[in-house]
Amino acid sequence: MIPFLTLQPDATETALLMEAIDKVVCSGRYLRGDATSALEEALCRQCGAKGAVGVSNGLDALRLIFRAYLELGRLRKGDKVIVPANTYIASLLPLTELGLVPELVEPDTATLNLDWHLAEKAAADNRVKALLTVHLFGTPSWDVEVAARLRKRGIVIVEDNAQAIGAHLATPHGKLFTGAMGEAAAFSFYPTKNIGALGDSGAVTSDNAELLTAVRALANYGSDRRYHNIYTGWNCRMDELQAAILELRLRRLPLINSKRRHRAAIYSALITNPLVRKPQWHSGAVWHQYVVLLPSEQRDAFRRYLAGRGISTDIHYATPPHRQPCYASLPHEPLPLTEQLADECVSLPIASASLAEVAYIAQCINDFN
Ligand SMILES: *Cc1c(COP(=O)(O)O)cnc(C)c1O
Repeated sequence: MIPFLTLQPDATETALLMEAIDKVVCSGRYLRGDATSALEEALCRQCGAKGAVGVSNGLDALRLIFRAYLELGRLRKGDKVIVPANTYIASLLPLTELGLVPELVEPDTATLNLDWHLAEKAAADNRVKALLTVHLFGTPSWDVEVAARLRKRGIVIVEDNAQAIGAHLATPHGKLFTGAMGEAAAFSFYPTKNIGALGDSGAVTSDNAELLTAVRALANYGSDRRYHNIYTGWNCRMDELQAAILELRLRRLPLINSKRRHRAAIYSALITNPLVRKPQWHSGAVWHQYVVLLPSEQRDAFRRYLAGRGISTDIHYATPPHRQPCYASLPHEPLPLTEQLADECVSLPIASASLAEVAYIAQCINDFN
């Protein structure tokens, strides 16, 4: 069976990881030390943001950003936040937890990401004070012009960059990386992400020093200095062990992402079955997932057929957040496109499949009818 994803590092990387872990073990410092600072600096160099804070996971990174905007008075309870309806539930949880109101917007069916024109229409409602863009599946979700118009009106734009570290847009001024597009961005280093920890980790990036100071304090019980608490904060710190591991892996980010891009390019070149809709190509995408669309009534048969040929697939995501039991009473407009996508999507192996396996999978897909 070709697994959907394997996470075991190879022997070379294992040796390097052991060395990095050893160094932290011997340092006697396990939180808020040199490894976390080094990772934060490396993240800034990677995406071009001015500052970064290492935190416990991607969900907490988002919670910290929105909580910090509330504490700083940029947002208030009851404000509406535009968020794509087709996202992972972790994009919404921090909003509803903090008393912000998600304004779910349908995707652009070409990109599967937020439809920025619909978002701009939704933002005509003056209760909308923020927009959370999600670079789903590793494709940057950004519209330079719409973003500039929203920003001019004081709308805070935050990025959920859990799936797209290293992704970028080409602009006249050079590459604009995810993590440096909005006013703040949340990163996740969940083990399956393009850069994964050996456990949970995340980060916040921003150019706004005031925001980062608030995030850092909130993540450390709300204290701005030792035993002095200015917020009723949380404990959302990054471990030194994870930071050391992540810094090591971040050095290999260009390689990791080009490997994914190469596999995506092979799928896109070889898959020709008219029943299977391939994802729109984006040269700055980092292919966290390679998602094809099947007519919904054929999706299960397609997955069973591939399983019969030794190919594991996955679904991202079978149930959109607004259809989850916990959001049964979340108000929203009808979201037929989001629901249709959830019924049609199939993710193919991308991160750990060999080139020969990718070619074999494409061949099997072409033989499906
Ligand atoms: C993984 C993910 C998160 C949450 O990150 P964790 O580190 O698992 O908490 C948030 N948003 C999106 C889009 C994700 O894929």
